[in-house]
Amino acid sequence: MERLLRAKTLIDDKILYLKQKSQALSKQGLKPHLGVILVGNNPATLSYIKNKEKFCSRIEADFSLINLPEDIEKEKFLEHIQRLNEDHSVTGCFVQLPLPNHFNDLDVTQMINPLKDVDGFHLKTIEKIYQGDLTGIIPCTPKGIITLLEANNIQIKGMDIVIIGRSYIVGKPLSLLLERKNATVTLCHSHTKDIKKYTSQADIIISAVGIPLLITKEHLNPQNNQIIIDVGINRYNNKLVGDVDFESVKDHVKAITPVPGGVGPMTVFSLMENLILTTTNILNNQNKGSL
Ligand code: NAD
Repeated sequence: MERLLRAKTLIDDKILYLKQKSQALSKQGLKPHLGVILVGNNPATLSYIKNKEKFCSRIEADFSLINLPEDIEKEKFLEHIQRLNEDHSVTGCFVQLPLPNHFNDLDVTQMINPLKDVDGFHLKTIEKIYQGDLTGIIPCTPKGIITLLEANNIQIKGMDIVIIGRSYIVGKPLSLLLERKNATVTLCHSHTKDIKKYTSQADIIISAVGIPLLITKEHLNPQNNQIIIDVGINRYNNKLVGDVDFESVKDHVKAITPVPGGVGPMTVFSLMENLILTTTNILNNQNKGSL
Protein backbone atom coordinates (compact mmCIF):
# COMPACT_ATOMS: atom_id res chain seq x y z
CA MET A 1 0.00 0.00 0.00
CA GLU A 2 1.22 3.45 -0.80
CA ARG A 3 -0.85 5.49 1.57
CA LEU A 4 -3.06 5.28 4.62
CA LEU A 5 -5.51 8.16 4.38
CA ARG A 6 -5.65 9.23 8.02
CA ALA A 7 -7.76 12.17 9.15
CA LYS A 8 -5.69 13.36 12.09
CA THR A 9 -2.91 15.38 10.44
CA LEU A 10 -5.32 16.95 8.01
CA ILE A 11 -7.67 18.01 10.82
CA ASP A 12 -4.80 19.27 13.01
CA ASP A 13 -3.75 21.46 10.06
CA LYS A 14 -7.21 22.84 9.36
CA ILE A 15 -8.74 23.22 12.80
CA LEU A 16 -6.88 26.42 13.67
CA TYR A 17 -8.58 28.14 10.74
CA LEU A 18 -12.02 27.14 12.11
CA LYS A 19 -11.05 28.34 15.59
CA GLN A 20 -10.06 31.72 14.18
CA LYS A 21 -13.36 31.95 12.29
CA SER A 22 -15.21 31.04 15.48
CA GLN A 23 -13.35 33.71 17.47
CA ALA A 24 -14.11 36.30 14.78
CA LEU A 25 -17.84 35.44 14.89
CA SER A 26 -17.83 35.74 18.70
CA LYS A 27 -16.20 39.17 18.40
CA GLN A 28 -18.95 40.19 16.00
CA GLY A 29 -21.54 39.20 18.59
CA LEU A 30 -22.58 35.66 17.70
CA LYS A 31 -20.63 32.80 19.25
CA PRO A 32 -21.05 29.47 17.40
CA HIS A 33 -23.19 27.20 19.57
CA LEU A 34 -24.14 23.63 18.76
CA GLY A 35 -27.34 22.31 20.35
CA VAL A 36 -27.97 18.56 20.33
CA ILE A 37 -31.02 16.53 21.32
CA LEU A 38 -30.36 12.96 22.38
CA VAL A 39 -33.12 10.56 23.36
CA GLY A 40 -32.01 7.70 25.63
CA ASN A 41 -28.50 6.92 26.81
CA ASN A 42 -26.96 4.36 24.49
CA PRO A 43 -23.22 4.37 25.44
CA ALA A 44 -22.01 4.21 21.81
CA THR A 45 -24.17 7.20 20.85
CA LEU A 46 -23.06 9.09 23.96
CA SER A 47 -19.44 8.61 22.96
CA TYR A 48 -20.13 10.02 19.46
CA ILE A 49 -21.70 13.05 21.11
CA LYS A 50 -18.77 13.49 23.53
CA ASN A 51 -16.50 13.59 20.50
CA LYS A 52 -18.60 16.34 18.92
CA GLU A 53 -18.44 18.26 22.20
CA LYS A 54 -14.63 17.95 22.22
CA PHE A 55 -14.42 19.33 18.70
CA CYS A 56 -16.63 22.26 19.71
CA SER A 57 -14.24 23.10 22.50
CA ARG A 58 -11.28 22.85 20.06
CA ILE A 59 -12.82 25.60 17.93
CA GLU A 60 -14.10 27.57 20.96
CA ALA A 61 -17.76 27.00 20.16
CA ASP A 62 -20.42 26.44 22.80
CA PHE A 63 -22.08 23.06 23.08
CA SER A 64 -25.28 22.03 24.82
CA LEU A 65 -26.84 18.62 25.10
CA ILE A 66 -30.50 18.06 25.84
CA ASN A 67 -30.65 14.44 26.97
CA LEU A 68 -34.25 13.22 27.07
CA PRO A 69 -35.53 9.97 28.59
CA GLU A 70 -36.14 7.03 26.22
CA ASP A 71 -39.88 7.00 27.03
CA ILE A 72 -40.50 10.73 26.47
CA GLU A 73 -43.88 11.56 24.91
CA LYS A 74 -43.87 12.69 21.31
CA GLU A 75 -45.38 16.09 22.04
CA LYS A 76 -42.78 16.91 24.69
CA PHE A 77 -40.02 15.82 22.33
CA LEU A 78 -41.36 18.07 19.57
CA GLU A 79 -41.49 20.99 22.01
CA HIS A 80 -37.78 20.54 22.66
CA ILE A 81 -37.00 20.67 18.93
CA GLN A 82 -39.08 23.81 18.56
CA ARG A 83 -37.34 25.47 21.51
CA LEU A 84 -33.93 24.71 20.03
CA ASN A 85 -35.04 26.00 16.63
CA GLU A 86 -36.15 29.27 18.21
CA ASP A 87 -33.31 29.74 20.71
CA HIS A 88 -31.34 32.73 19.40
CA SER A 89 -28.17 31.66 21.19
CA VAL A 90 -28.07 28.30 19.33
CA THR A 91 -26.59 28.65 15.85
CA GLY A 92 -26.62 25.02 14.74
CA CYS A 93 -28.55 21.98 15.92
CA PHE A 94 -29.54 18.41 15.23
CA VAL A 95 -31.32 15.45 16.76
CA GLN A 96 -28.98 12.51 17.26
CA LEU A 97 -30.23 9.47 15.34
CA PRO A 98 -31.39 6.75 15.68
CA LEU A 99 -34.51 7.55 17.69
CA PRO A 100 -36.57 5.04 19.72
CA ASN A 101 -39.14 3.00 17.78
CA HIS A 102 -42.13 5.01 18.98
CA PHE A 103 -40.81 7.95 16.89
CA ASN A 104 -40.60 5.91 13.68
CA ASP A 105 -43.30 7.96 12.01
CA LEU A 106 -41.42 11.25 12.58
CA ASP A 107 -38.99 12.65 10.05
CA VAL A 108 -37.07 14.85 12.48
CA THR A 109 -34.55 15.86 9.85
CA GLN A 110 -37.29 17.98 8.28
CA MET A 111 -38.20 19.61 11.62
CA ILE A 112 -34.86 21.31 12.12
CA ASN A 113 -34.76 25.01 11.25
CA PRO A 114 -32.98 24.94 7.84
CA LEU A 115 -30.87 27.92 8.92
CA LYS A 116 -29.40 25.78 11.72
CA ASP A 117 -29.22 22.52 9.77
CA VAL A 118 -25.61 21.54 10.51
CA ASP A 119 -26.25 17.88 9.57
CA GLY A 120 -27.41 18.97 6.12
CA PHE A 121 -30.37 16.59 5.93
CA HIS A 122 -33.17 19.13 5.43
CA LEU A 123 -34.73 19.00 1.97
CA LYS A 124 -34.02 22.72 1.53
CA THR A 125 -30.33 21.94 2.06
CA ILE A 126 -30.37 18.95 -0.29
CA GLU A 127 -32.31 20.89 -2.94
CA LYS A 128 -29.37 23.29 -3.38
CA ILE A 129 -26.97 20.40 -3.86
CA TYR A 130 -29.38 18.77 -6.29
CA GLN A 131 -29.28 21.97 -8.31
CA GLY A 132 -25.48 21.80 -8.37
CA ASP A 133 -24.87 24.58 -5.85
CA LEU A 134 -22.19 23.42 -3.41
CA THR A 135 -21.71 26.75 -1.62
CA GLY A 136 -24.08 25.98 1.28
CA ILE A 137 -24.32 23.29 3.94
CA ILE A 138 -23.29 19.83 2.77
CA PRO A 139 -24.08 16.64 4.72
CA CYS A 140 -21.13 15.90 7.01
CA THR A 141 -19.93 12.45 5.95
CA PRO A 142 -20.00 13.15 2.18
CA LYS A 143 -18.35 16.54 2.81
CA GLY A 144 -15.64 14.91 4.93
CA ILE A 145 -14.92 12.35 2.21
CA ILE A 146 -14.51 15.06 -0.44
CA THR A 147 -12.22 17.06 1.87
CA LEU A 148 -10.11 13.97 2.52
CA LEU A 149 -9.80 13.15 -1.20
CA GLU A 150 -8.97 16.72 -2.17
CA ALA A 151 -6.45 17.24 0.65
CA ASN A 152 -4.63 14.12 -0.52
CA ASN A 153 -4.62 15.38 -4.12
CA ILE A 154 -6.76 12.47 -5.27
CA GLN A 155 -8.39 13.42 -8.54
CA ILE A 156 -12.19 13.23 -8.67
CA LYS A 157 -12.85 14.76 -12.09
CA GLY A 158 -13.25 12.09 -14.77
CA MET A 159 -12.77 9.21 -12.31
CA ASP A 160 -15.00 6.14 -12.18
CA ILE A 161 -16.30 6.05 -8.61
CA VAL A 162 -18.40 3.24 -7.17
CA ILE A 163 -20.37 3.95 -4.02
CA ILE A 164 -21.89 0.99 -2.18
CA GLY A 165 -24.87 2.06 -0.07
CA ARG A 166 -27.55 4.57 -1.06
CA SER A 167 -28.62 5.95 2.31
CA TYR A 168 -29.98 9.45 2.74
CA ILE A 169 -27.06 10.42 4.94
CA VAL A 170 -24.13 9.01 2.97
CA GLY A 171 -24.48 7.29 -0.42
CA LYS A 172 -27.20 9.38 -2.02
CA PRO A 173 -25.85 12.89 -1.27
CA LEU A 174 -22.30 11.71 -1.94
CA SER A 175 -23.32 10.54 -5.42
CA LEU A 176 -24.71 14.03 -6.18
CA LEU A 177 -21.56 15.76 -4.95
CA LEU A 178 -19.16 13.54 -6.85
CA GLU A 179 -21.22 13.80 -10.02
CA ARG A 180 -21.12 17.60 -9.63
CA LYS A 181 -17.34 17.32 -9.36
CA ASN A 182 -17.37 15.54 -12.72
CA ALA A 183 -16.81 11.95 -11.62
CA THR A 184 -18.76 9.13 -13.25
CA VAL A 185 -20.66 7.65 -10.34
CA THR A 186 -22.18 4.19 -9.94
CA LEU A 187 -24.41 3.67 -6.91
CA CYS A 188 -24.64 0.03 -5.75
CA HIS A 189 -27.02 -1.20 -3.05
CA SER A 190 -28.61 -4.26 -1.51
CA HIS A 191 -30.29 -5.21 -4.81
CA THR A 192 -27.21 -4.84 -7.01
CA LYS A 193 -26.72 -8.22 -8.72
CA ASP A 194 -22.94 -8.27 -8.94
CA ILE A 195 -21.05 -5.62 -6.96
CA LYS A 196 -17.64 -6.99 -8.03
CA LYS A 197 -18.48 -6.22 -11.65
CA TYR A 198 -18.52 -2.51 -10.73
CA THR A 199 -15.84 -2.35 -8.04
CA SER A 200 -13.27 -4.14 -10.22
CA GLN A 201 -13.63 -1.39 -12.84
CA ALA A 202 -13.53 1.59 -10.46
CA ASP A 203 -10.79 4.10 -9.76
CA ILE A 204 -12.27 4.83 -6.33
CA ILE A 205 -14.47 2.50 -4.24
CA ILE A 206 -16.51 3.96 -1.38
CA SER A 207 -18.31 1.54 0.92
CA ALA A 208 -21.09 2.79 3.23
CA VAL A 209 -23.09 -0.29 4.12
CA GLY A 210 -22.50 -1.43 7.70
CA ILE A 211 -21.37 -5.03 7.05
CA PRO A 212 -17.90 -6.04 8.26
CA LEU A 213 -15.63 -7.82 5.74
CA LEU A 214 -18.03 -7.03 2.87
CA ILE A 215 -15.29 -5.77 0.55
CA THR A 216 -12.34 -8.09 0.03
CA LYS A 217 -9.40 -8.47 -2.33
CA GLU A 218 -11.76 -10.25 -4.75
CA HIS A 219 -13.57 -6.93 -5.34
CA LEU A 220 -10.41 -5.22 -6.63
CA ASN A 221 -8.64 -5.11 -9.96
CA PRO A 222 -5.24 -6.84 -10.27
CA GLN A 223 -3.32 -3.58 -10.82
CA ASN A 224 -3.13 -2.51 -7.15
CA ASN A 225 -4.04 1.04 -8.17
CA GLN A 226 -7.47 1.65 -6.62
CA ILE A 227 -8.41 3.97 -3.78
CA ILE A 228 -10.75 2.74 -1.05
CA ILE A 229 -12.81 4.91 1.26
CA ASP A 230 -14.32 2.86 4.07
CA VAL A 231 -17.28 4.63 5.67
CA GLY A 232 -18.59 1.64 7.63
CA ILE A 233 -18.36 1.55 11.40
CA ASN A 234 -19.08 -1.90 12.75
CA ARG A 235 -18.41 -3.71 15.99
CA TYR A 236 -16.82 -7.05 15.10
CA ASN A 237 -14.98 -9.42 17.45
CA ASN A 238 -14.96 -6.64 20.07
CA LYS A 239 -13.21 -4.25 17.69
CA LEU A 240 -14.33 -1.30 15.58
CA VAL A 241 -13.95 -2.19 11.92
CA GLY A 242 -15.21 -0.84 8.60
CA ASP A 243 -16.92 -2.62 5.70
CA VAL A 244 -13.59 -3.47 4.11
CA ASP A 245 -11.46 -6.48 5.00
CA PHE A 246 -8.46 -4.26 5.63
CA GLU A 247 -5.91 -7.07 6.01
CA SER A 248 -6.93 -8.71 2.74
CA VAL A 249 -6.87 -5.53 0.65
CA LYS A 250 -4.16 -3.35 2.19
CA ASP A 251 -1.34 -4.55 -0.05
CA HIS A 252 -3.46 -4.37 -3.19
CA VAL A 253 -4.59 -0.74 -3.16
CA LYS A 254 -3.05 2.63 -3.86
CA ALA A 255 -4.59 4.19 -0.76
CA ILE A 256 -7.18 3.34 1.87
CA THR A 257 -8.83 5.01 4.87
CA PRO A 258 -8.37 3.31 8.24
CA VAL A 259 -11.26 2.52 10.59
CA PRO A 260 -11.17 4.09 13.08
CA GLY A 261 -9.29 7.27 12.19
CA GLY A 262 -10.47 7.89 8.62
CA VAL A 263 -13.95 9.00 7.58
CA GLY A 264 -15.30 9.12 11.19
CA PRO A 265 -13.22 12.11 12.38
CA MET A 266 -13.66 13.79 8.98
CA THR A 267 -17.43 13.68 9.57
CA VAL A 268 -17.12 15.52 12.90
CA PHE A 269 -14.71 18.03 11.38
CA SER A 270 -17.27 18.75 8.65
CA LEU A 271 -19.90 19.28 11.33
CA MET A 272 -17.69 22.04 12.77
CA GLU A 273 -17.28 23.58 9.31
CA ASN A 274 -21.05 23.52 8.90
CA LEU A 275 -21.50 25.14 12.34
CA ILE A 276 -19.23 28.00 11.32
CA LEU A 277 -21.24 28.39 8.11
CA THR A 278 -24.69 28.39 9.79
CA THR A 279 -23.43 30.88 12.38
CA THR A 280 -22.05 33.14 9.63
CA ASN A 281 -25.34 32.96 7.71
CA ILE A 282 -27.42 33.75 10.81
CA LEU A 283 -25.18 36.69 11.66
CA ASN A 284 -25.40 38.01 8.09
CA ASN A 285 -29.20 37.74 8.24
CA GLN A 286 -29.26 39.62 11.56
CA ASN A 287 -27.04 42.37 10.14
CA LYS A 288 -29.24 42.67 7.04
CA GLY A 289 -32.32 42.87 9.27
CA SER A 290 -30.83 45.69 11.33
CA LEU A 291 -29.93 47.86 8.33
P1 NAD B 1 -28.10 2.48 6.11
O1 NAD B 1 -28.44 1.21 6.81
O2 NAD B 1 -29.02 3.63 6.14
O3 NAD B 1 -27.79 2.15 4.58
C1 NAD B 1 -27.05 1.03 4.20
C2 NAD B 1 -27.02 0.94 2.69
O4 NAD B 1 -26.29 -0.23 2.34
C3 NAD B 1 -28.39 0.82 2.04
O5 NAD B 1 -28.47 1.76 1.00
C4 NAD B 1 -28.44 -0.61 1.48
O6 NAD B 1 -29.07 -0.67 0.22
C5 NAD B 1 -26.99 -0.95 1.33
N1 NAD B 1 -26.76 -2.37 1.55
C6 NAD B 1 -27.22 -3.15 2.53
N2 NAD B 1 -26.76 -4.41 2.40
C7 NAD B 1 -26.00 -4.44 1.30
C8 NAD B 1 -25.24 -5.43 0.64
N3 NAD B 1 -25.18 -6.68 1.08
N4 NAD B 1 -24.57 -5.08 -0.49
C9 NAD B 1 -24.64 -3.83 -0.97
N5 NAD B 1 -25.31 -2.82 -0.37
C10 NAD B 1 -25.99 -3.14 0.75
O7 NAD B 1 -26.66 2.86 6.67
P2 NAD B 1 -25.89 4.29 6.76
O8 NAD B 1 -26.52 5.10 7.81
O9 NAD B 1 -25.64 4.85 5.42
O10 NAD B 1 -24.49 3.75 7.34
C11 NAD B 1 -23.72 2.80 6.64
C12 NAD B 1 -22.48 2.47 7.45
O11 NAD B 1 -21.68 3.63 7.54
C13 NAD B 1 -22.73 2.03 8.90
O12 NAD B 1 -21.72 1.14 9.29
C14 NAD B 1 -22.61 3.32 9.67
O13 NAD B 1 -22.24 3.10 11.02
C15 NAD B 1 -21.50 3.99 8.91
N6 NAD B 1 -21.48 5.44 8.98
C16 NAD B 1 -20.28 6.00 9.23
C17 NAD B 1 -20.16 7.36 9.28
C18 NAD B 1 -18.81 7.94 9.53
O14 NAD B 1 -18.72 9.09 9.89
N7 NAD B 1 -17.74 7.17 9.33
C19 NAD B 1 -21.27 8.18 9.06
C20 NAD B 1 -22.49 7.60 8.75
C21 NAD B 1 -22.57 6.21 8.72
